[in-house]
Amino acid sequence: MSSFDHAPLALGIDLGGTKILAGLVEADGSVLRTWRFATPAEAGGAAIMQALVDAARAAIASLSSAHQSALRGIGVSSAGHIDHRSGEVLYCTPNLPGWSGMAIAENLRAAFPQHSRLAVVADNDGNASTFGEAWCGGARGVSNLVMMTLGTGLGGGILVDGRLIHGAHGGGAEIGHTLLVPDGLPCNCGQNGCLESYVSGTALGKAAERSGFWNPAPSSHELFELARQGDERALGLIREMAEHLGTAIITIINFLDPDRILLGGGVGEQGDLFLPMVRAAVSRRYGQRGWDPERVQSAVLGERAGMIGAAGLVFERVRHEEPVRSEA
Ligand SMILES: [Zn+2]
Repeated sequence: MSSFDHAPLALGIDLGGTKILAGLVEADGSVLRTWRFATPAEAGGAAIMQALVDAARAAIASLSSAHQSALRGIGVSSAGHIDHRSGEVLYCTPNLPGWSGMAIAENLRAAFPQHSRLAVVADNDGNASTFGEAWCGGARGVSNLVMMTLGTGLGGGILVDGRLIHGAHGGGAEIGHTLLVPDGLPCNCGQNGCLESYVSGTALGKAAERSGFWNPAPSSHELFELARQGDERALGLIREMAEHLGTAIITIINFLDPDRILLGGGVGEQGDLFLPMVRAAVSRRYGQRGWDPERVQSAVLGERAGMIGAAGLVFERVRHEEPVRSEA
Protein backbone atom coordinates (compact mmCIF):
# COMPACT_ATOMS: atom_id res chain seq x y z
CA MET A 1 0.00 0.00 0.00
CA SER A 2 1.29 3.45 -0.83
CA SER A 3 1.96 5.89 1.98
CA PHE A 4 1.24 8.85 -0.32
CA ASP A 5 -2.00 10.77 -0.11
CA HIS A 6 -1.10 12.88 -3.10
CA ALA A 7 0.34 11.95 -6.50
CA PRO A 8 4.16 12.26 -6.59
CA LEU A 9 5.66 15.75 -6.65
CA ALA A 10 9.12 17.17 -7.26
CA LEU A 11 10.64 20.52 -6.38
CA GLY A 12 12.41 21.98 -9.40
CA ILE A 13 14.84 24.85 -8.83
CA ASP A 14 16.46 26.92 -11.56
CA LEU A 15 19.49 28.83 -10.35
CA GLY A 16 20.13 31.80 -12.59
CA GLY A 17 22.58 34.69 -12.45
CA THR A 18 20.01 37.05 -10.96
CA LYS A 19 17.17 34.90 -9.64
CA ILE A 20 16.30 31.51 -8.22
CA LEU A 21 13.03 30.15 -9.56
CA ALA A 22 11.51 27.20 -7.70
CA GLY A 23 8.38 25.26 -8.56
CA LEU A 24 6.33 22.40 -7.21
CA VAL A 25 5.80 20.10 -10.18
CA GLU A 26 3.57 17.08 -10.73
CA ALA A 27 4.59 13.92 -12.57
CA ASP A 28 2.90 15.16 -15.77
CA GLY A 29 4.85 18.43 -15.69
CA SER A 30 2.03 20.58 -14.30
CA VAL A 31 3.32 23.36 -12.05
CA LEU A 32 1.30 23.74 -8.85
CA ARG A 33 3.19 26.61 -7.24
CA THR A 34 6.25 28.75 -7.87
CA TRP A 35 8.61 30.75 -5.68
CA ARG A 36 11.14 33.39 -6.67
CA PHE A 37 14.27 34.42 -4.77
CA ALA A 38 17.27 36.64 -5.56
CA THR A 39 20.65 35.09 -6.42
CA PRO A 40 23.42 36.82 -4.43
CA ALA A 41 25.82 36.19 -7.34
CA GLU A 42 28.38 38.81 -6.33
CA ALA A 43 28.64 37.36 -2.81
CA GLY A 44 30.39 34.20 -4.07
CA GLY A 45 29.93 30.45 -4.14
CA ALA A 46 29.17 29.79 -0.47
CA ALA A 47 26.53 32.54 -0.37
CA ILE A 48 24.93 31.27 -3.59
CA MET A 49 24.84 27.75 -2.12
CA GLN A 50 23.23 29.09 1.05
CA ALA A 51 20.63 30.97 -1.00
CA LEU A 52 19.83 27.77 -2.90
CA VAL A 53 19.44 25.79 0.34
CA ASP A 54 17.32 28.59 1.86
CA ALA A 55 15.11 28.64 -1.24
CA ALA A 56 14.52 24.88 -1.03
CA ARG A 57 13.90 25.12 2.70
CA ALA A 58 11.40 27.98 2.36
CA ALA A 59 9.54 26.21 -0.44
CA ILE A 60 9.32 22.87 1.36
CA ALA A 61 8.38 24.49 4.68
CA SER A 62 5.41 26.18 3.04
CA LEU A 63 3.99 22.92 1.66
CA SER A 64 1.01 21.17 3.19
CA SER A 65 1.81 17.91 4.96
CA ALA A 66 0.16 15.99 2.09
CA HIS A 67 2.41 17.72 -0.42
CA GLN A 68 5.46 17.22 1.79
CA SER A 69 4.86 13.50 2.01
CA ALA A 70 4.29 13.31 -1.75
CA LEU A 71 7.60 15.06 -2.46
CA ARG A 72 9.99 12.66 -4.17
CA GLY A 73 12.98 14.90 -4.59
CA ILE A 74 14.69 18.16 -5.43
CA GLY A 75 16.10 18.91 -8.87
CA VAL A 76 18.45 21.81 -9.55
CA SER A 77 19.11 23.42 -12.90
CA SER A 78 22.32 25.45 -12.75
CA ALA A 79 24.73 27.26 -15.03
CA GLY A 80 28.10 25.59 -15.51
CA HIS A 81 29.44 22.14 -16.18
CA ILE A 82 27.68 19.87 -13.69
CA ASP A 83 28.55 16.27 -12.86
CA HIS A 84 24.99 14.98 -13.05
CA ARG A 85 25.92 11.79 -11.15
CA SER A 86 27.39 13.57 -8.10
CA GLY A 87 25.57 16.88 -8.47
CA GLU A 88 28.83 18.83 -8.26
CA VAL A 89 29.75 21.96 -10.20
CA LEU A 90 32.88 21.06 -12.17
CA TYR A 91 33.29 24.44 -13.82
CA CYS A 92 31.35 27.66 -14.01
CA THR A 93 32.04 30.95 -15.77
CA PRO A 94 32.42 34.15 -13.70
CA ASN A 95 28.66 34.77 -14.14
CA LEU A 96 28.40 32.92 -10.82
CA PRO A 97 31.72 33.76 -9.09
CA GLY A 98 33.06 30.96 -6.90
CA TRP A 99 30.38 28.51 -8.04
CA SER A 100 32.97 26.08 -9.49
CA GLY A 101 33.57 23.17 -7.14
CA MET A 102 30.35 23.57 -5.15
CA ALA A 103 28.65 20.29 -4.22
CA ILE A 104 25.01 21.13 -4.96
CA ALA A 105 23.43 17.74 -4.26
CA GLU A 106 25.54 17.02 -1.18
CA ASN A 107 24.71 20.39 0.40
CA LEU A 108 21.00 19.99 -0.28
CA ARG A 109 20.99 16.47 1.17
CA ALA A 110 22.79 17.72 4.28
CA ALA A 111 20.23 20.51 4.65
CA PHE A 112 17.31 18.07 4.85
CA PRO A 113 18.41 15.21 7.12
CA GLN A 114 14.76 14.65 8.04
CA HIS A 115 13.98 14.07 4.35
CA SER A 116 16.72 11.54 3.61
CA ARG A 117 14.44 9.64 1.21
CA LEU A 118 14.38 12.60 -1.21
CA ALA A 119 16.24 12.16 -4.48
CA VAL A 120 18.49 15.14 -5.14
CA VAL A 121 19.70 15.77 -8.69
CA ALA A 122 21.52 18.64 -10.37
CA ASP A 123 22.26 19.27 -14.00
CA ASN A 124 23.31 22.04 -16.33
CA ASP A 125 20.54 24.55 -17.09
CA GLY A 126 20.70 23.91 -20.83
CA ASN A 127 20.33 20.19 -20.23
CA ALA A 128 17.49 20.65 -17.75
CA SER A 129 15.63 22.96 -20.15
CA THR A 130 16.07 20.48 -22.99
CA PHE A 131 14.76 17.66 -20.84
CA GLY A 132 11.80 19.83 -19.79
CA GLU A 133 10.84 20.71 -23.36
CA ALA A 134 11.02 17.04 -24.39
CA TRP A 135 9.08 15.94 -21.31
CA CYS A 136 6.16 18.36 -21.41
CA GLY A 137 7.00 21.30 -23.68
CA GLY A 138 7.58 22.08 -27.33
CA ALA A 139 9.14 18.71 -28.16
CA ARG A 140 6.88 16.40 -26.18
CA GLY A 141 7.71 12.80 -26.94
CA VAL A 142 10.63 13.72 -29.17
CA SER A 143 13.69 11.58 -28.36
CA ASN A 144 16.24 13.28 -30.62
CA LEU A 145 16.24 16.96 -29.79
CA VAL A 146 18.62 19.89 -29.82
CA MET A 147 17.62 22.96 -27.86
CA MET A 148 19.29 26.34 -28.03
CA THR A 149 18.43 29.04 -25.51
CA LEU A 150 19.23 32.44 -27.01
CA GLY A 151 19.35 34.93 -24.17
CA THR A 152 22.28 36.72 -22.57
CA GLY A 153 24.37 33.87 -23.97
CA LEU A 154 23.57 30.80 -25.99
CA GLY A 155 22.86 27.76 -23.83
CA GLY A 156 22.09 24.38 -25.26
CA GLY A 157 21.17 20.82 -24.65
CA ILE A 158 21.18 17.65 -26.70
CA LEU A 159 18.90 14.67 -26.27
CA VAL A 160 19.87 11.57 -28.27
CA ASP A 161 17.59 8.54 -28.16
CA GLY A 162 15.94 10.05 -25.09
CA ARG A 163 19.16 10.59 -23.14
CA LEU A 164 20.90 13.89 -22.40
CA ILE A 165 24.46 14.21 -23.68
CA HIS A 166 26.73 15.21 -20.78
CA GLY A 167 30.13 14.21 -22.12
CA ALA A 168 33.04 12.88 -20.10
CA HIS A 169 33.46 15.98 -17.90
CA GLY A 170 30.00 17.51 -17.86
CA GLY A 171 31.03 19.89 -20.63
CA GLY A 172 29.18 18.38 -23.56
CA ALA A 173 26.37 20.08 -25.48
CA GLU A 174 28.02 23.53 -25.11
CA ILE A 175 26.64 24.56 -28.47
CA GLY A 176 27.18 28.26 -27.73
CA HIS A 177 30.95 27.76 -27.61
CA THR A 178 31.32 25.85 -30.83
CA LEU A 179 33.51 27.89 -33.17
CA LEU A 180 31.69 29.72 -35.91
CA VAL A 181 34.34 32.21 -37.07
CA PRO A 182 38.05 31.37 -36.66
CA ASP A 183 39.75 34.20 -34.71
CA GLY A 184 36.43 36.00 -34.63
CA LEU A 185 34.79 38.08 -31.90
CA PRO A 186 35.99 37.43 -28.34
CA CYS A 187 33.81 35.31 -26.05
CA ASN A 188 33.77 35.36 -22.24
CA CYS A 189 34.85 31.69 -22.29
CA GLY A 190 38.28 32.79 -23.52
CA GLN A 191 37.89 31.64 -27.11
CA ASN A 192 37.37 33.84 -30.14
CA GLY A 193 34.61 33.32 -32.68
CA CYS A 194 32.14 31.31 -30.58
CA LEU A 195 28.59 30.96 -31.89
CA GLU A 196 27.38 32.77 -28.75
CA SER A 197 29.31 35.89 -29.83
CA TYR A 198 27.19 36.04 -33.00
CA VAL A 199 23.88 34.53 -31.95
CA SER A 200 22.41 35.72 -28.63
CA GLY A 201 20.66 38.77 -27.22
CA THR A 202 24.02 40.16 -26.12
CA ALA A 203 25.56 39.51 -29.53
CA LEU A 204 22.70 41.32 -31.27
CA GLY A 205 23.04 44.33 -28.97
CA LYS A 206 26.79 44.46 -29.62
CA ALA A 207 26.25 44.17 -33.37
CA ALA A 208 23.98 47.21 -33.13
CA GLU A 209 26.72 49.10 -31.27
CA ARG A 210 29.33 48.16 -33.86
CA SER A 211 27.02 49.21 -36.70
CA GLY A 212 27.15 52.85 -35.61
CA PHE A 213 23.58 53.29 -36.91
CA TRP A 214 22.26 54.43 -33.56
CA ASN A 215 23.47 56.41 -30.59
CA PRO A 216 22.87 54.96 -28.11
CA ALA A 217 22.40 51.55 -29.69
CA PRO A 218 19.05 49.82 -29.02
CA SER A 219 18.86 46.65 -26.91
CA SER A 220 18.17 43.34 -28.62
CA HIS A 221 14.53 43.57 -27.54
CA GLU A 222 14.24 47.08 -28.98
CA LEU A 223 15.85 45.88 -32.21
CA PHE A 224 13.10 43.32 -32.67
CA GLU A 225 10.53 46.07 -32.08
CA LEU A 226 12.23 48.29 -34.67
CA ALA A 227 12.36 45.38 -37.12
CA ARG A 228 8.62 44.80 -36.69
CA GLN A 229 8.07 48.44 -37.60
CA GLY A 230 10.00 47.82 -40.81
CA ASP A 231 13.38 49.34 -39.82
CA GLU A 232 15.70 47.92 -42.49
CA ARG A 233 18.85 48.37 -40.39
CA ALA A 234 17.38 46.38 -37.50
CA LEU A 235 16.04 43.76 -39.92
CA GLY A 236 19.49 43.48 -41.49
CA LEU A 237 21.19 42.78 -38.16
CA ILE A 238 18.59 40.20 -37.17
CA ARG A 239 18.81 38.55 -40.59
CA GLU A 240 22.58 38.38 -40.23
CA MET A 241 22.15 36.67 -36.85
CA ALA A 242 19.68 34.22 -38.42
CA GLU A 243 22.27 33.42 -41.13
CA HIS A 244 24.88 32.63 -38.47
CA LEU A 245 22.41 30.43 -36.62
CA GLY A 246 21.48 28.70 -39.88
CA THR A 247 25.15 27.88 -40.43
CA ALA A 248 25.39 26.36 -36.95
CA ILE A 249 22.18 24.41 -37.51
CA ILE A 250 23.63 22.80 -40.65
CA THR A 251 26.51 21.50 -38.52
CA ILE A 252 24.04 20.22 -35.94
CA ILE A 253 21.97 18.44 -38.58
CA ASN A 254 25.06 16.77 -39.98
CA PHE A 255 26.25 15.72 -36.54
CA LEU A 256 22.99 14.55 -35.02
CA ASP A 257 20.11 14.54 -37.50
CA PRO A 258 17.67 15.53 -34.73
CA ASP A 259 13.89 15.21 -34.99
CA ARG A 260 13.51 18.75 -33.71
CA ILE A 261 15.58 21.86 -33.00
CA LEU A 262 14.00 24.22 -30.48
CA LEU A 263 14.89 27.89 -30.02
CA GLY A 264 14.21 29.33 -26.58
CA GLY A 265 15.21 32.37 -24.56
CA GLY A 266 14.39 36.01 -25.25
CA VAL A 267 15.56 35.88 -28.88
CA GLY A 268 14.19 32.41 -29.57
CA GLU A 269 10.77 33.59 -28.44
CA GLN A 270 10.67 36.24 -31.20
CA GLY A 271 9.55 33.33 -33.35
CA ASP A 272 7.13 35.18 -35.62
CA LEU A 273 9.95 37.31 -36.99
CA PHE A 274 13.08 35.27 -36.35
CA LEU A 275 11.99 31.71 -37.05
CA PRO A 276 11.17 32.23 -40.76
CA MET A 277 14.60 33.83 -41.26
CA VAL A 278 16.36 30.91 -39.57
CA ARG A 279 14.35 28.35 -41.55
CA ALA A 280 15.16 30.18 -44.79
CA ALA A 281 18.86 30.17 -43.92
CA VAL A 282 18.72 26.43 -43.22
CA SER A 283 16.63 25.74 -46.31
CA ARG A 284 19.01 27.52 -48.66
CA ARG A 285 21.85 25.32 -47.50
CA TYR A 286 20.20 22.04 -46.69
CA GLY A 287 16.53 22.07 -47.64
CA GLN A 288 16.91 19.81 -50.65
CA ARG A 289 18.52 17.02 -48.70
CA GLY A 290 15.66 15.74 -46.62
CA TRP A 291 15.80 17.66 -43.35
CA ASP A 292 12.67 19.78 -43.19
CA PRO A 293 13.51 23.31 -41.91
CA GLU A 294 10.03 23.39 -40.30
CA ARG A 295 11.58 21.15 -37.66
CA VAL A 296 13.21 24.27 -36.26
CA GLN A 297 10.58 25.53 -33.84
CA SER A 298 10.14 27.80 -30.84
CA ALA A 299 10.42 26.42 -27.32
CA VAL A 300 7.28 26.86 -25.22
CA LEU A 301 8.21 26.61 -21.54
CA GLY A 302 9.88 30.04 -21.39
CA GLU A 303 11.73 30.92 -18.19
CA ARG A 304 10.20 27.87 -16.49
CA ALA A 305 12.00 25.36 -18.74
CA GLY A 306 14.98 24.77 -16.43
CA MET A 307 12.81 24.53 -13.32
CA ILE A 308 10.34 22.10 -14.90
CA GLY A 309 13.13 20.09 -16.49
CA ALA A 310 14.97 19.80 -13.16
CA ALA A 311 11.79 18.42 -11.59
CA GLY A 312 11.45 16.02 -14.52
CA LEU A 313 14.99 14.78 -13.87
CA VAL A 314 13.91 13.94 -10.30
CA PHE A 315 11.07 11.76 -11.59
CA GLU A 316 13.49 10.20 -14.09
CA ARG A 317 15.98 9.41 -11.31
CA VAL A 318 13.29 7.98 -9.04
CA ARG A 319 11.91 5.87 -11.89
CA HIS A 320 15.33 4.32 -12.52
CA GLU A 321 16.22 3.80 -8.87
CA GLU A 322 13.04 2.33 -7.46
CA PRO A 323 10.88 -0.62 -8.39
CA VAL A 324 7.56 0.39 -9.92
CA ARG A 325 5.29 1.42 -7.08
CA SER A 326 1.54 1.12 -7.07
CA GLU A 327 -0.27 4.46 -6.99
CA ALA A 328 -3.39 2.86 -5.57
ZN1 LIG B 1 32.76 30.87 -26.00
